[in-house]
Amino acid sequence: MNKIKVCSSQFNYKYGDQIHFPYSIATLVAWIKSNPELSDVFQFEKCFIFRNKIEKYISTCCDSDILLCSCYGWNWEITKKLAKRVKKINPKCIIIFGGPQVPKWYKEHYSESFFEKHDYVDILVHGEGEQIIENIFKAYLEGINFEGIKGIETKDFKGEPQPRLSDIDILPSPYLTNIVWDLVEPEDDIKYIAAWESNRGCPFKCAFCDWGSATMSKVRKRNQNKLEEEIRWFGENKIPYIDVCDANWGIFKDRDLELSRKFSEVKKQHGFPEKIRPAWAKVSSEKLIPVAKVLLEADMLRAVTLAVQSLDEATLTAVKRKNIKFKKWADLVNIFRSEGIENYTELILGLPGETIESYKNNLEQMMELFPRPVLYIYNCGVFPNAPMNEPSYKKLHDIKTISSPIFLMHSTPSETKLVEYEDIVLSTSTMTGEDLREAYLYSWVTQSFHSFGILEYVSKYFHDQYGLKYVDFYSHLIEYCKDNDLSIFSEEYRSVKNLIEMGYSGEGWEHYDSNLGEICWPHEEATFLRCAMDSSSLKEHMFSFLQWLNTHGQFNSDISILEDLSEFQVYLLTTRDILEDTKIKNFNYDWVQYFNSNGNNYNLEKKKVTYTHTNKITERDITKWCYKTAWWGRGPKKYKIDPADLKTYSGEAMSEHCYKQKYNIKGQ
Ligand code: SF4
Repeated sequence: MNKIKVCSSQFNYKYGDQIHFPYSIATLVAWIKSNPELSDVFQFEKCFIFRNKIEKYISTCCDSDILLCSCYGWNWEITKKLAKRVKKINPKCIIIFGGPQVPKWYKEHYSESFFEKHDYVDILVHGEGEQIIENIFKAYLEGINFEGIKGIETKDFKGEPQPRLSDIDILPSPYLTNIVWDLVEPEDDIKYIAAWESNRGCPFKCAFCDWGSATMSKVRKRNQNKLEEEIRWFGENKIPYIDVCDANWGIFKDRDLELSRKFSEVKKQHGFPEKIRPAWAKVSSEKLIPVAKVLLEADMLRAVTLAVQSLDEATLTAVKRKNIKFKKWADLVNIFRSEGIENYTELILGLPGETIESYKNNLEQMMELFPRPVLYIYNCGVFPNAPMNEPSYKKLHDIKTISSPIFLMHSTPSETKLVEYEDIVLSTSTMTGEDLREAYLYSWVTQSFHSFGILEYVSKYFHDQYGLKYVDFYSHLIEYCKDNDLSIFSEEYRSVKNLIEMGYSGEGWEHYDSNLGEICWPHEEATFLRCAMDSSSLKEHMFSFLQWLNTHGQFNSDISILEDLSEFQVYLLTTRDILEDTKIKNFNYDWVQYFNSNGNNYNLEKKKVTYTHTNKITERDITKWCYKTAWWGRGPKKYKIDPADLKTYSGEAMSEHCYKQKYNIKGQ
C-alpha cells in the first residue's frame, strides 16, 4: 500500500547564517511516529522552512495527501500563499493550519467565517496540537470524516476544546529521535537554532501576551533526565544557539540551576551550544542570580531580563499584569550588577491605560536609575489570540490597530519580499495617535541617547547641577534638532520622524543602512552606530548642542566645563575610529569622582586627570564592529563604559605616550 504523503511547513526567517529547526512540526511528527498504528502509514517529507524556496515547495505538494502548516505572525502570509497554491494544483490535499496565529475570534472581528475568506484551508487546529493531529490522522484512515474531533474547526463545525496533555513527558523528543534532522535539508552554509521547552505554561495572563492565555496557566514540567539528554544532544550535534521557549526560565530555581550547569558542562566538552536565550521569570528576584551566573561564566548568556513593560499602576491594572514594587526592582538591578550580571528591561509602547504623561514618567523613572539596565522599547502588538484582541476588551479600551509589516530586528532584508504583517496599536482610549507618535519619539531618544549613552552623562550633569528632568533635557534636544539642520543629531531626528510616519501609516518599521551591514536595524541601534563612527565629529556636534542648551536654557555653565564634559562623554563610548586595546585620555575636571558621587553634593573639581580603560570592541571589520557593538553587544553593554570602571591617574596631565610607557601599555 502506498504511504500517505504528508508535507509540512514552518517558515522561518534567517538570522545571518542561522535558522530555527521546525520544532513544532518536529514535535508533532515525533508524536505521530511514536504511534505504531500511524507510523508506518504516513510518510513525512522534508519540512518547508526557507522562504525563498516556496516555488519548489509548492511543486513538492502536487501529489501530497496532507499539508500541515505551523502558523506564526512571521509566516502567516507566506503560509497562506503556499496553501492557496497547493489547493489549486492539488484540490484533494487536506490542508491543516495550527499554531499561535490561528485566530480564535475571526468571525467576531471580520463578520464572516474564516473559511469564507480562506476556502483553501480545510481544518483549523486550536490549542496544543499533538493529540488533535493524532485524532485527525486516525480519522483520515477511517474515511476522512473529521466531525466531532475536539479542538478543530472546519467550514461545517467547531469542536469542543481539546483538554491539554497533563503529562507532557509522554511526548517523544524531536531531538533525541533525530526527527529534526529528518525534516530539514542539509545545507552546508546553514546552522540550525534549536527551540527548547523545559516546561509548558505560564501562571500569568498579561493582556498583551498570547502565551499565558494560550498555555492556560498551569506550568507542566518536563522530565529532567530527558532535558539533560537533550542538552547533551545539542552539544554533540554542534547546535550554536538555543532559544528557550519557557515563559519563565529560572522559576524552578533548583532545577533550572542544574540544567544551566549541564549546559555549561556540555559547552566545555563540545564547544556547543555557544549561547542560549531564555525568557526569564517575570517575577524578578535574586533567585535568578545563581542560574544566570552559571550561564555567564560559561559565556553562554548576554544579559538577564528584569521585565516591567510599564511602571504605571493604571496601565498595569488595565493589562492585568503585576510587577514587583519599583523600589525593589531598582534594588535588584543593582544587586545583579554587583554580581557582574548585566540586565535589561522592556517597556511596551501603547498599552491600554497608558497616557502620554504616564509614559514619559516611565521614561523619567528609567533614566533616573543609576546605573540602569539596558532598555528595549517595543510597539504594542495585538496578537490574534491575546486577551487584548478579545472583542469586548478592544471595545472597552477603544483599541484601534493598524496592520503593519512585521519588524524582525536583525533579520536579513532581502528575505522580506513577501511581506508579513502584525497588528499594532494606533490609539487607545487614553492615548491618541498624536500622543503615540510623540511617545515613540521619546522612546527613540531615551534608547539612543540615554540607554546607549550618547548623552547619558551630559544629561546627568544638567540633572544634578540644575535639577533638569531627563525628559526635559531630551525635549531640549528635540527642539534643537528641529532648528539646527546641520547637526548629526538633527539628521537622526529627521530619519526617525520619517520612520514614525511610515510606521504608523502601515508602511513598516524596517530601517536599513548599507554602511552598517546587511540587516534590518532597530532605529535606536542605527542612530548610535552612525553617531559613534567618528569621535571627533561626535564631540564637536555634542559641544555645539551644549552651547545652545546653555544659552537657550539660561544655565550659564562655564563653557570650558561643557567642552571637557563633551570630551568625557565621547570617551566613555565605544567609537569606530578608536580601535586600540586601551583608551587613554586627559581631562581638566575629575569627572569620575563627580559622577561616582551620584549628585551627592560633590563639587566638580578642576584638576588634571588621566583616565584609562580597556576598549570593549577592537574589531577592524566594520560590519562585525557594528554587530559586536550594538546588536550582540547591546545586552552586555559593549557600546559604553561606566565611569566607575575607569582607572584614574591624577596629577599633571601626561601625554598618552608617557602614560603608556610608565604603565607599560601596548597600543598605537
Ligand atoms: S508576558 Fe510573560 S508573564 Fe505575562 S502572560 Fe506572557 S509569558 Fe506570561
